[in-house]
Amino acid sequence: MVASSVLGFPRIGANREVKKAVESYWAGKISAEALTKVAADVKKTTWTSLKARGVDLIPSGDFSLYDHVLDHSAAFNAIPKRYLGHGLSALDVYFAMGRGRQADGVDVPASEMKKWFDSNYHFVVPEFAEDTDFKLNFNKALEEYNEAKAIGIVTRPVVLGPLSFLALGKAAKEAKAGFEPITLLPRLLPVYKQLLADLKAAGVESVQIDEPVLVLDSAAGLEKRFSAAYVELEPVSPKIVLTTYYGRLDSNLTFVAKLPVAGLHIDLDRAPGQLDQVIAAVKPTSIVLSLGVVSGRNIWKTDLQAAIKLGQKTIDALGADRVIIATSSSLLHTPVTLDAENKLTPDQKDWFSFALEKASEVAVVAAVLSGSQDPKVAEALAANTASIAKRREFERTSDDAVRKRVAAITPDMLERKSPFAVRKEVQQKYLNLPKFPTTTIGSFPQTKEIRTARAKLNKKEITVEQYNEFIKKEIESVVRFQESIGLDLLVHGEPERNDMVQYFGEQLEGFVFTQNGWVQSYGSRYVRPPIVVSDVRRSGPMTVAWSSYAQSLTTKPMKGMLTGPVTILNWSFPRADVSRELQCKQLALALRDEVGDLEKAGIKAVQVDEPALREGLPLRKADWEPYLNWALPSFKIATAGVSDALQTHSHFCYSDFDDIFPSIQALDADVISIEASKSDMKLLNTFKHYGYSNQIGPGVYDIHSPRVPGEQEIKDRIASMLQILPESLLFVNPDCGLKTRGWKETEASLKNVVTAARWARQTY
Ligand code: GLN
Ligand code: ZN
Repeated sequence: MVASSVLGFPRIGANREVKKAVESYWAGKISAEALTKVAADVKKTTWTSLKARGVDLIPSGDFSLYDHVLDHSAAFNAIPKRYLGHGLSALDVYFAMGRGRQADGVDVPASEMKKWFDSNYHFVVPEFAEDTDFKLNFNKALEEYNEAKAIGIVTRPVVLGPLSFLALGKAAKEAKAGFEPITLLPRLLPVYKQLLADLKAAGVESVQIDEPVLVLDSAAGLEKRFSAAYVELEPVSPKIVLTTYYGRLDSNLTFVAKLPVAGLHIDLDRAPGQLDQVIAAVKPTSIVLSLGVVSGRNIWKTDLQAAIKLGQKTIDALGADRVIIATSSSLLHTPVTLDAENKLTPDQKDWFSFALEKASEVAVVAAVLSGSQDPKVAEALAANTASIAKRREFERTSDDAVRKRVAAITPDMLERKSPFAVRKEVQQKYLNLPKFPTTTIGSFPQTKEIRTARAKLNKKEITVEQYNEFIKKEIESVVRFQESIGLDLLVHGEPERNDMVQYFGEQLEGFVFTQNGWVQSYGSRYVRPPIVVSDVRRSGPMTVAWSSYAQSLTTKPMKGMLTGPVTILNWSFPRADVSRELQCKQLALALRDEVGDLEKAGIKAVQVDEPALREGLPLRKADWEPYLNWALPSFKIATAGVSDALQTHSHFCYSDFDDIFPSIQALDADVISIEASKSDMKLLNTFKHYGYSNQIGPGVYDIHSPRVPGEQEIKDRIASMLQILPESLLFVNPDCGLKTRGWKETEASLKNVVTAARWARQTY
């Protein structure tokens, strides 16, 4: 018998119940009990549906109200001291760690968030110090296992592994210089033992222990620690399925295959090439191989015949009872179900599989490989074969003009006319910005009114004209606000955008959209990624009318605002049939035309956001160059086709630039803004170290939390930035867009930003 398995499931609920309940709880509208009840119902529905779809190994313990890594830190008592002693409930401490808290005399910023591997999910970075006092505050895996068992469903609990937990964390501020969290392993293991022993005592047969760090180069240095840890855990634990995803094991396989584990999960969506090597390595052992053949990262229907081939090959080598058919990773990165989509054409709908449909896919593949005679299985397989054939047929069609234009890209299209030093002077005259210019990253609060107006437009309750009038008023008030507090380089506020990627996808040809395809970005923030289905082209200007209108309202310079090609691609579900390079360059050409149109319309600065450029970096260093070789040119194609006078900006979120510094410089944007408020000045030291030559606006405060930064706090930040960066290069701005913020804190925060910049002008 070949078992089927799902490694994790979206937590939002089919109707976004969890997101809504969490936000209501924050707003004080529902109680903790009510929130728990909503969560319990969603978990129940998930378990029941996975069972109904025929999945054998159903996950539990993967649910989260905010972030599963944060759950883990809370469970293991890795709670920074700043969150304690305020008389908060455990749940409120948990949310305070995730999103900060500023109420009733408590004022604590959020913990740092980071991109989860190469995905668009963010996790809350665990903080460790020498005196981190590990203990088991609660056992989520056990609780959920029991919750499922109570409704008659036996699950396989999921636990984040000890090595990944420590390796993904960082040293707390209080820790001594040079402290490395991984050294805490010997103190952490007893708590894991307790957790696993409790699972075993409860009758858990096998446990999924996630060690995604095993697909990173850095895991090579953890060999001894991995061995020591699993030798210690194995005897007390239910059977361990060591789970890796998002990449290949490579040389780490040598020690992984020797670990005393019952099973090993590998990602064959991202790294199909590793199968032979892994089979060979585990063959002499008794390790069961869990094959991640159904992508947890994309939304395309799996080619079941191809998956069956991989399964059969493994069975031939190891025997059927040593094979599990699984999703490649947790399905966290996919929407819940296609069922809710009724705007896609039947043809389009037939191309896709969301989380629940993927659950059926693993079940069907496992059933076929188990020799099932069930006619329903045969039917599902035949239907899949037909769908795949139809999609292949569609993929053969292309937009020849677009393909030709990509083929005709020349190196000179990638470079500005003059070097930055020359441009800087031209732009100084053209824009006339003061020293330490203040600006924002683009969006202003997306208020309830804005969302309501958009919803009404979508339901045709108001006309396009009425909607446009509404948006114009919004833009006007954002412009007036910026003028009134004295910001220097204005933005129009992006009220017309539902999302920075979706907005562009909707105006470009080649994309389709879901109605309910929500995917978690962080906490209660979900996005609905567009899907690239065919060649991409721009059918007309996308932002020019709004930017020109905003500019017409003011004599201050207005910054045009676009999302970059790499980010549009990385935050969409890409096609699987052509390279990402081709898709990205098509987007780049469309954006190049848009930037050109903005310049022609008299806009003096254009920001092309690339927050996803860094996160799109492959996990293995050996793969970076090929990626950067198309990602960097794509940004340059989009931004370099303008005169020296146009000031190009770009923005990056939580980014660690240490390793790709030359690439950021190579983008040659006139100004970049970066998140710097949470990872302190380390980032800026990198810029200094490498002698970054263009202008730079490191975020002076963290917008991901409603907390208002004090005036002095911002002045201090500017002062410390100026110890590192030259005065002539510094811009002053928040660290990201303000769309998720309310007006109250936005007003207060930005006023403090302007005051602090004015102070800096006098002081320096
Ligand atoms: N211009 C975008 C905004 O302000 C940038 C957001 C981002 O990079 N995440 O919303
Ligand atoms: Zn950002």
